[in-house]
Amino acid sequence: MNCIFCDIVARKSTAEILYEDDDILSFLDIRPVNFGHTLVIPKTHYENFISVPDETLAKLISATKKISSSIVESLNPDGFNVITNNGRAAGQSIYHFHFHIIPRYNDDDFNFRLNLKKYFGDSMKEYADKIRKAVNI
Ligand code: AMP
Ligand code: ZN
Repeated sequence: MNCIFCDIVARKSTAEILYEDDDILSFLDIRPVNFGHTLVIPKTHYENFISVPDETLAKLISATKKISSSIVESLNPDGFNVITNNGRAAGQSIYHFHFHIIPRYNDDDFNFRLNLKKYFGDSMKEYADKIRKAVNI
């Protein structure tokens, strides 16, 4: 399998690594939205949020929280986003799961182009019913 993030884990490709332990690697995004934009990945290859095992996801969340805190402390941004893109339609370009931590500034030019929809009639309940039927926790 050809995966740039697996290559970074295996040190076949270089990256500006910020943190590493047995399960997790964190490094700077090579094309940052803002400087300091960071990625947090599992060392094992999983394609997306849903395929990461719960135990690994818990470790990833915890590391993402700590690294976010380090970014806030060291770069002092006005805010930050923690996001994960899943699937091409959602903007995923590397199919090895990762969290993005993006430092944000009041005057930065990163915008989600939102065109917010409105539910009409019973459609909100219909969507909720569909999802509720599938919820299985
Ligand atoms: P996504 O589009 O959510 O899949 O995010 C993939 C991210 O990986 C993008 O923001 C890329 O800029 C970043 N990226 C791709 N190749 C590298 C690399 N070699 N080192 C660091 N970041 C990378
Ligand atoms: Zn991979």
